[in-house]
Amino acid sequence: MRLVIFGPPGAGKGTQARLLEERRGITQISTGDILRAALEEETPLGQKAKSYVESGELVPDELVRKLAEQAIADEGYDDFVLDGYPRTQQQAEWLTKFLEEHEAPLDAVVSLEVPDEVLVRRLSRRRIHDETGETYHLDHNPPPDDVDPDLIVQRSDDEPETVRNRLAVYREETEPLASYYERQDALVSVDGVGNIEEVFQRIERVLGASERPA
Ligand code: AMP
Repeated sequence: MRLVIFGPPGAGKGTQARLLEERRGITQISTGDILRAALEEETPLGQKAKSYVESGELVPDELVRKLAEQAIADEGYDDFVLDGYPRTQQQAEWLTKFLEEHEAPLDAVVSLEVPDEVLVRRLSRRRIHDETGETYHLDHNPPPDDVDPDLIVQRSDDEPETVRNRLAVYREETEPLASYYERQDALVSVDGVGNIEEVFQRIERVLGASERPA
């Protein structure tokens, strides 16, 4: 299936995209993960993106467009879930055009609905594994005992002030895409409040209903 998982920071997009990959073999394409890896490795891309990512601003459209299109091409256009892309009207239009050119339209855009107060609580308690990128929540999904605690870190953009900025950027730039996908009849809404498994089951249910015939 060709999917976008859509929603504000902290909605659980990465967690659910990873589960879709693990359980349904749909490749997770996370522009945020790609950018964080580039920052870590201090590649030219990482150097260009650093100040934006660290302040919670959006990286320029042209930069992420290349990353996303390359990742979709590498995957083979058939089974992917875009996590964190598109985030602007321009990115969404490019994506539509790119997928049309490859006769690979999206099957669904899954919108995870989560109220602001839950998002802020989740982000402040979120931790990631410094090497694998695996995400945890200190209360609901703590890192297992056999993981080295020194490798469990907070994303620098999960600090309170940056979180507020990321939410503001989301409202301004990204949230309007919901109506863009609604007009294309692609948007499916899923209640994103609850534990990881519950939310995953809801996603499975809506995807079952929008599956392409074999
Ligand atoms: P994420 O892990 O998806 O929350 O992304 C982390 C950060 O990477 C964002 O706050 C942006 O700075 C940058 N980023 C990721 N995806 C995009 C995108 N599609 N457009 C612009 N910036 C992005």
